[in-house]
Amino acid sequence: MLKTSNLVFLYPRISLDYPRHKSWFADVKMAPPDAILGLTEAFLSDKNPKKVNLGVGAYRDDGNKPWVLPSVREAEKRIASKNMNHEYAPINGLAEFYNKSVELALGKDSEILKDKRNSTSQCLSGTGSLRIGAAFLGLFWKGERLVHLPNPTWPNHRPIFMHSGLKVATYNYYDPKTLGLNEQGLYESLCKSPEKSIVLLHACAHNPTGVDPKKEQWLEISRIMKSRNLYPFFDMAYLGFASGDIDKDAEAVRIFASEGHEFCLAQSFAKNMGLYGERVGTLTIVCSTKDEAERVTSNVKTIIRPMYSSPPVYGARIATEIFGDNELYCMWLEDLQTMANRTINMRNQLMEKLVALGSKRSWEHITNQIGMFCYTGLNPEQVERLTKEFSIYLTKDGRIAVVGLSTKNVTYVAESIHAVTKG
Ligand code: PMP
Repeated sequence: MLKTSNLVFLYPRISLDYPRHKSWFADVKMAPPDAILGLTEAFLSDKNPKKVNLGVGAYRDDGNKPWVLPSVREAEKRIASKNMNHEYAPINGLAEFYNKSVELALGKDSEILKDKRNSTSQCLSGTGSLRIGAAFLGLFWKGERLVHLPNPTWPNHRPIFMHSGLKVATYNYYDPKTLGLNEQGLYESLCKSPEKSIVLLHACAHNPTGVDPKKEQWLEISRIMKSRNLYPFFDMAYLGFASGDIDKDAEAVRIFASEGHEFCLAQSFAKNMGLYGERVGTLTIVCSTKDEAERVTSNVKTIIRPMYSSPPVYGARIATEIFGDNELYCMWLEDLQTMANRTINMRNQLMEKLVALGSKRSWEHITNQIGMFCYTGLNPEQVERLTKEFSIYLTKDGRIAVVGLSTKNVTYVAESIHAVTKG
């Protein structure tokens, strides 16, 4: 039996001289604010009635309001009438949803899907799908492989891959002189990448530049990557949103599929269904056999389970409802066109207004680029002036979210851009 007198030796004596315990996190430094979300905060506190937010990548209608797609509204009504329960989804999500999702990307006639050599899982939108894919590669390739990201790229790519234990490098992509693709530089970078490296590719509507390779250029990228034994990882955040046509936006991924690549594919339904906050997405890992795909899926599940156990069901139910009903699906295709057309129309108007104002610069890149963003070519001083003098908010690299333009503000934005670029 333990005697009270022994306790003196087992536990430190509490004394009044004992150093006072300081807070556990007293040494934690303030992390930098998120560059894009910080812009929204600054925008909201700006009192100028003419202020314009061109920072955030979320679709807005011509009244600058968030837009719930009519097809989504209708799907929600149908779901509500079904009185569904709130049970957990399986670890890798709703099969009906993720099978349709990958079919949308690879096409109905995909050989990969016929052979069932795809490992597909529902994950938390595009970011979560990238993160689970990166974690899988980091785990099985033990952090030895480099991931090459385009320069520039979506700022979240770097931490996503680094947090998954992979080393990150960049490849040439954008040419600031032509405001277009640095084609030769891109091929040279790929030729120099160490064999078996991972190469992150934006499937369409490259963020932040809006510059996509053309079909022949994709074919060349595919050829070099095969000959150099490089592993493609596609980030597909804008399927159907870029051009309004799903097959067109899926072209790059389908080229790689038909050229016999095995690859990772992260899909998001944030933009193309306007389901930003519902976190709807899928990760596909294309394998060489059905059996291999099943083994891969079993391991993907072991990554998901301790991270968040299983994905949310509501958004995936909406998508499934849309995919499963021809009338709703057609409605969605129209909604996609509405968003793509408004965005393309805003690009045209911005360019035309700059030309009409007598700007001596070439603004053709505004309409050559595609998707939610335009890389204007404005330098950091010009961006600063736009914000300080005109209350127009955009990222320091000169990227504007074209979807933040409307028929009401496009003239003001064009005049302001002209004011900071003339002379
Ligand atoms: N990749 C790219 C290139 C993006 O632009 C985005 C959204 N900004 C994402 C992935 C992920 O978005 P989400 O997680 O909202 O689907």
